[in-house]
Order: sequence, then structure tokens, then C-alpha cells
Amino acid sequence: MDLRDTPEQAEFRAQLRAWLADNVPTEPEPQTMPARFHYVVAWQKRLYSGGWVALSWPKEYGGQGLGPVEESILNQELGRAGAPAAASFTFLGRAFLTFGTEEQKARYLPGFLSAEEIWCQGFSEPEAGSDLASLRTTATRDGEDFVINGQKLWTSRGSFAQFCLVLARTGTRESRHRGITAFVVPTDTPGMTRKPLIMANGDEEFAEVYFDDVRVPASNMLGELDQGWKVTQATLAYERGAADLGYLAKYERMLAQLAGIAQERGVSDDVSNVEAVGRVLGHLEVLRLHSMRRLSDRAQGKAVGAETSIDKVMMTQTEQLLLHTALDILGPEAVQGRGDWFKKYLYSRAASIYGGTAQVQRNIISGRLLGLKE
Ligand SMILES: Cc1cc2nc3c(=O)[nH]c(=O)nc-3n(C[C@H](O)[C@H](O)[C@H](O)COP(=O)(O)OP(=O)(O)OC[C@H]3O[C@@H](n4cnc5c(N)ncnc54)[C@H](O)[C@@H]3O)c2cc1C
Repeated sequence: MDLRDTPEQAEFRAQLRAWLADNVPTEPEPQTMPARFHYVVAWQKRLYSGGWVALSWPKEYGGQGLGPVEESILNQELGRAGAPAAASFTFLGRAFLTFGTEEQKARYLPGFLSAEEIWCQGFSEPEAGSDLASLRTTATRDGEDFVINGQKLWTSRGSFAQFCLVLARTGTRESRHRGITAFVVPTDTPGMTRKPLIMANGDEEFAEVYFDDVRVPASNMLGELDQGWKVTQATLAYERGAADLGYLAKYERMLAQLAGIAQERGVSDDVSNVEAVGRVLGHLEVLRLHSMRRLSDRAQGKAVGAETSIDKVMMTQTEQLLLHTALDILGPEAVQGRGDWFKKYLYSRAASIYGGTAQVQRNIISGRLLGLKE
């Protein structure tokens, strides 16, 4: 694959860069919820009205009908410009593209892309995180409806979302992954209760979500009855496929800021700092080459699958090393209010947990990719 932009891609990049220069918010990102949530929603709405959302999605579903390379240029330029994250979890939209009926796509995708309707992912439970197939929330058929009972945990954006994609057991408990179904649940449905949970970094990122006889029509099933594991696998594969140029651009930007701070403080020549920054640069270069390989796969139409566990492990290692290095260089200043480095450091620790822990990713790599025993 030729890694240089074609003339058309260069033109696309230039237009995008100009748009971002005019549109990336100049006011700092609020440090607390719900202000930060509203900030990222407003940003996604702006991106959407500019035509910069879902570039590689088909036009009939609200996308721009472009390819993975343009999507990748977008991610790269967003990271480079220091743009906020988007409000919608793209991987949930992908689940609808793959498994949704035409009615479901028409009803849910426009609001999803425009950030008029925010979604959360109701997968994990108190006793079912890594071992998701043991989940206990049930959905019982009652005429034309299903009635959901149980509890979800660590539901990101759970306090703010209008819809939740909920995995529930429709088979026997022993059926494990063969007896799970995915449902669309509006979060204002009677019987649904959300309690905010505060993360170590002080953010109200999650909610605990309780289901007490929550009734949804059978037409809210995403995919077929008892086939929710397929929805789960596809959604998680997209969630883990993080080794994108957007992450890389974001990390490069952070490293440049860090180098600037080290210079300002007169510690940029310290051997330990030079070594530490060099290590991060090495990781970034490996991640860059890996991302290019993934991009080449996608450009050739290769389906997203278990190999995204490798992306997740590499992204996690790079992010954690970078933020660890930031603390080493900044010392006590990181905690005493120099920007939000300490908050970012704490969030980097979560990277080896969300979307499946680092150990679970390695199990997938050994079992499904290398054919070793999982
Ligand atoms: C920031 C953040 C956001 C999240 N957002 C969401 C969300 O929006 N929706 C959602 O559904 N969930 C979400 N989660 C939950 C996340 O998916 C789970 O925390 C994760 O899957 C791990 O599950 P657990 O916490 O129950 O840990 P456990 O599964 O109890 O694991 C505990 C430890 O045991 C290890 N372990 C478990 N099984 C194995 C094994 N077979 N082999 C080796 N080691 C093993 C794990 O690696 C881990 O170190 C989020 C988590 C975080 C941190």
C-alpha cells in the first residue's frame, strides 16, 4: 500500500483541516459532568452538520459513502487538531448497520449520528464482566413484548443516554452465549432506574442500571432471538479496533506538549527523561506501522474481527506508557493542577479494562488468532 495521500485525498485533507481550524472549540473542555457531556454532544452536532460524521458509512444510512482511508484521515486530523471526542459510541452504530432491520436503521441511525439521541452499552453486570456469557439479566416473552429484569454495571454515559443496547438472557442460564438476545431499551421506560457511579478520576462516567419489569416490544430485538452473542462479538470487535491514526495523532500531540513542558522546566536533557520519551516514541512508531497495516486491510475490504484484540493491547500499552512518562516528567505538578495530566493518567489505567481487559484480549489472541488453548 502506498502510504502517501493521492491528490484527491490531499485535497480532502486540506478541506477538512481548514474546516477544523474554523470549528474546533477554542473554549477548554469542561472538567466535570454533565457539562463535559453537553460539550461533546455539541461538538458531534457541529461535526454532523459539517458532513464529517460516518464518512465510510453508506449514504442511505446517513453516511458519506467514502472509504476507510478518508475515515482514517478524519481521525488523524481530529487528533492533530486536538478536537474533543465524539459523543456517540460508533461501535454501537456499527451493530445497527450489521444487524438492524430496515425499520430499525431508519428509526435509530439518524439520531445516533446527529447526537440528537445518545446511546449506552448495557453489557457488563456485577457477576459478568470478562465472562459476559454468564450474564443474568433476563428477558421473558409476554405476548408481543419482552419483560426485562436484572442489573447492568459500569454503563458509560448511562446517566445521560436516551437509549441502551441491552444484552439479556432469553435462554436457560446454562445456555450461556447461545441464550442471549440484544434489545433496544429507551432509558425512560417505566421500571428502569439509573444510579450514577463516580470513577477514580472524579468523573461521573458510569451508571448502574436496574431493570424492574421493564417492558419492550419484541420488535426492539436487535438481531434474532438467542443470537445476541453475534451482536456482542461484532460490537466488541469494533470497540477494540482502536489502533487508528486518530489515537496516534492524539498521543503524538500529547508527547509534543510534554516535550515542551520538559524544555520549559529545563529537564529535557535529563538522561532518564530522554530515555523515557524515546521509549514512547518507539511505541508510537510501532503503533503507526500497525495502524497502517490495519488501514490497508480495511481498504481491501477485510472484515473486522478478533485481530482487533491486538489493536487494543497495543493502544493500551502506548497510552499507559505515555501517561506514566508524563507523571515522571511533571512530578508533583501533575497532581497540583498542571492541566489535566493526572486525570488523563488515571483514565489511561482504565484502558486495560474497558472493552475487555488486557488479559482477556491476550486470551483471544492466543485462542482465536494463534490457535492455542484459550
Ligand atoms: C472506563 C470503563 C468504561 C466501561 N464502559 C462500559 C460500558 O459502557 N458498558 C459495559 O457493558 N461495560 C463497560 N465497562 C465494563 C468493562 O467491560 C468490564 O469492567 C470488563 O469487561 C471487566 O469486567 P469486570 O470489571 O467484571 O472484571 P472481572 O471480569 O471480574 O475481572 C477481574 C480480573 O480478572 C481477570 N480475568 C477474568 N477472567 C479472566 C480469564 N479468563 N483469564 C485471565 N484473566 C481473567 C481480568 O483480566 C481482571 O484483571 C467499562 C469499564 C471501564 C473501566
